[in-house]
Amino acid sequence: MTRPALEVADVVRQYGAAYLARYGSTVSPEQHRALRAIALCRTAALGGHATQCEQCGHVEITYNSCGNRHCPTCPGRAQAAWLAAREAELLNVPYVHVVFTLPHLLSPLALQNPRVLYTLLLQAVAETLLTVARDPHHWGADIGFLAVLHTWGQTLHHHPPLHCVVPGGGLSPDGTQWIACRPTFFLPVRVLSRVFRRRFLTLLHQAYTEGALRVEGQCHTLTHPAQWQQFLAPLRATEWVVYAKPPRGGPGQVLKYLARSTHRVAIAHRRLLALEDGQVTFRWKDYAHGNRQRLMTLDAVEFIRRFLLHILPAGFQRLRHYGLLANRGRQAKLARCRELLQQAVSPTPPVPPATQAPPAPDQPAAVCPACQRGRMCWVETLHRQPDLCARWMQPPGWDTS
Ligand SMILES: [Zn+2]
Ligand SMILES: [Zn+2]
Repeated sequence: MTRPALEVADVVRQYGAAYLARYGSTVSPEQHRALRAIALCRTAALGGHATQCEQCGHVEITYNSCGNRHCPTCPGRAQAAWLAAREAELLNVPYVHVVFTLPHLLSPLALQNPRVLYTLLLQAVAETLLTVARDPHHWGADIGFLAVLHTWGQTLHHHPPLHCVVPGGGLSPDGTQWIACRPTFFLPVRVLSRVFRRRFLTLLHQAYTEGALRVEGQCHTLTHPAQWQQFLAPLRATEWVVYAKPPRGGPGQVLKYLARSTHRVAIAHRRLLALEDGQVTFRWKDYAHGNRQRLMTLDAVEFIRRFLLHILPAGFQRLRHYGLLANRGRQAKLARCRELLQQAVSPTPPVPPATQAPPAPDQPAAVCPACQRGRMCWVETLHRQPDLCARWMQPPGWDTS
């Protein structure tokens, strides 16, 4: 596999030390782990294996991946296995995409309390969608949906939108009918927005009174209850952004969307253009101005700081299932939906094999990239090198090739 010309890892290796010197006291253990994993990914430090062509003797070395979910080099295989499982669960109906966004005023609090705020966001959105859909004035159905949390905007600033993918129909409350949503109308976004705002702020206030929120640094004034109420006032008064795209795509489009979005990290390598004199240049899409492609240049340390804003708390799942699709009872509920929709069960496609493990004896070996004739055979396991692992931050100019 060819490596991109510039990777986040290059920035981390060269400027990780400078970043830690400036921000070390505020770095969380997850952020530290991610930095180290990204820097070591697919280098000799993690070990690997060597294969050799049985005809011309050409040798190829493959180093192991870090497997960290925030590493831009790694997500491929996890994504393939995960998508295969999702494909088997999709119903053959149009799907609606609904996006819920937290107001920017909440960003400092979310960055200090990512686990609490993201959990409240998911909870508030789930309660909003399920309650409004169940209301006989709107839809009168029990629905299900997938929610994917993204925390970034195009320039890596903090911007937590929750993307929900909702099958355009649901079960009647007694479970005897499939109620399809009208093709031109999903749920009134104004109602969703109000219910979401009220629910989220109630949960947030509850977390505050229970002492579950950290309010330090730029948020320290919020320790006074009067200031806290002042902080909530504009949040109660503004409209919260919720939008629904009309139901267009079927299962195929949903899969494509999930493939693009669920195992993503804050920036893909193809958007990185240059690392020169301590400055990183990358491409971004200006959604506010007709999706124009623009370039941004940031100080490398600032680039790392922004990248790390999007490291999720350990064990926090970016994607969740709710309602009919909730993990508990999903198979039975999906079977009922399929029966009502007279839809056959889709077979679970096989999970693709790992790309980096040495080929199993019964697996066809790769063809030699040098002579294009011989087969590449496994010759040696390369062990992990703890001394290299310990030195993951390298001075500028270190050659990784
Ligand atoms: Zn990796
Ligand atoms: Zn060969």
